[in-house]
Amino acid sequence: MASNGPMILCDNLVKIYKVQDLEVVALQGLDLVVERGEFMAIVGPSGSGKSTLMNILGGLDRPSAGKAIVDGQDLLKLSSGALTRYRRHKVGFVWQQPSRNLIPYLSVEENVELPMIIGGMPAKERNEWTRELLEAVGLYDRRDHNLHQLSGGEQQRTAIGVALANKPVILLADEPTGEVDTATAQTILDTLRNLNETYTLTIVAVTHDPRMADQVDRVVGIRDGKTSSERLRRVTAAERPAGELAAEGAAVESAEVPAPEENVTYHEYVVLDAAGRLQIPREYLEELGISGRAQVELTENGILITPGVGLEKPQEEANFKDIAETWGPQRRSRGIKFDPSLALRGLFRRGKK
Ligand code: ADP
Ligand code: MG
Repeated sequence: MASNGPMILCDNLVKIYKVQDLEVVALQGLDLVVERGEFMAIVGPSGSGKSTLMNILGGLDRPSAGKAIVDGQDLLKLSSGALTRYRRHKVGFVWQQPSRNLIPYLSVEENVELPMIIGGMPAKERNEWTRELLEAVGLYDRRDHNLHQLSGGEQQRTAIGVALANKPVILLADEPTGEVDTATAQTILDTLRNLNETYTLTIVAVTHDPRMADQVDRVVGIRDGKTSSERLRRVTAAERPAGELAAEGAAVESAEVPAPEENVTYHEYVVLDAAGRLQIPREYLEELGISGRAQVELTENGILITPGVGLEKPQEEANFKDIAETWGPQRRSRGIKFDPSLALRGLFRRGKK
């Protein structure tokens, strides 16, 4: 089922893991739009929810609330049968360890062909697509090799072939260059870029690798289970000095015209959610000693955020603690710890305005 909207739309996406009586909020209202044919990267500190997001988009895990729509399919509403079909035909998944996609006693070609057999692809189409895919990932010459005869990069490229066997519309990769050296990482990246360009394949890759972040169209930063920043890569033809153009004009008949040079520029943004909240980079807050509260002013050049004046933070904390302690031991309400100092703080904040 094709659709014309964006390839991925996450709106206020929430994922809560329950471990015994503890709840871990891995995604807390994440917003993300991925256009068709985009090659984008997701970065963020460990534990920020990157793998959780990938697992949800890959249909391996269910969202708890919010919206997650991929190619027009609402992942919150799919039956378990529909989710299995989604996993099999809509998305391809590549992990940090290629072995998660591969069967060790099969050859490269057999590994790539296997999901097509399971997916019921007719033999003729299967043979053609296997050959084309093996060429696209640069392994056609090695199709008869067993996995143990391949380097780490070749195994990962086989895993990419397996992920694309059933012609998914989107490829998800969770740290695909996480376990390989620089040169190998580059061959994996080149393969992904080539697939993105040849098949207008939408690719979302989680990465820690700065080289990867420099080679994709867009980098989205996740922090504490929310999208917090975005970096766009723009490639434009470089402007050349007028003198150079004149000289070229004189020689126009004999010389081949040189390829225009490319300028790559990056634009960094912070992301605002629907309620107007944004995450200010932690370094900025530390530099200015801003925590807890700040002042926001509208100025001619934009919005100015300064440390809250007239607030002595340590003193304030101590006062809340004193008052809270007179309330006696902490009460529990439905498994959630009730902290009277927090409740008081809320009252004071409202009273202040
Ligand atoms: P990242 O990939 O950015 O390192 P994850 O998505 O793996 O982060 O994890 C986000 C948070 O969710 C972490 O606090 C992690 O401990 C928790 N988490 C992830 N998967 C599970 C799970 N299956 N059960 C319980 N908690 C989980
Ligand atoms: Mg992870």
